[in-house]
Amino acid sequence: MENENLINDTFHRLNKIVEGLYKLSLNIKFLTNLKGCRIIGQCKKVAKNSYIIRLHTKLLEEFGQEYLDDVLTHELAHAVQMEIYPKSKPHSREWKNIVETLSQKKYSTKNKINYKLNEFSKNKKKFVYICKCMEHYVSSIIHKRISQKRYFYNCKKCKEVLIYKDINSAK
Ligand SMILES: [Zn+2]
Ligand SMILES: [Zn+2]
Repeated sequence: MENENLINDTFHRLNKIVEGLYKLSLNIKFLTNLKGCRIIGQCKKVAKNSYIIRLHTKLLEEFGQEYLDDVLTHELAHAVQMEIYPKSKPHSREWKNIVETLSQKKYSTKNKINYKLNEFSKNKKKFVYICKCMEHYVSSIIHKRISQKRYFYNCKKCKEVLIYKDINSAK
């Protein structure tokens, strides 16, 4: 698969720095199975020097190298960080230094790629509920639970039970 090569090439390029500079020999398994609209990459430690990095199926397809340069670098930096600064916080100064070293450029939250994550939302259709103070948007899963009367949801602010506002029938 083409994207698999892209992942391997990117990883090997970055891993040279990891091995050379940080003297780490990391064992990383890549999974491209993130599909939702909230997480664009994830790094999980499984054992010493062993990590699973999960990447987003559609973002990889759509943005390819650009996505990997951003997210694979970001996640790999977490792995390096957990090994050499195990007590540091994610996205701390230590982590930023690693990202900058790996990407060979200054870390900046500006010029972030707009991944338009909402388009990958599984439950694109949101259901509108109302209480006394506001509208609430719930996923189809929650909506199903409420309609089956398995759950009642209360507004955290006004404590009222949420009531379904059927926007389709109102029109
Ligand atoms: Zn992160
Ligand atoms: Zn309320």
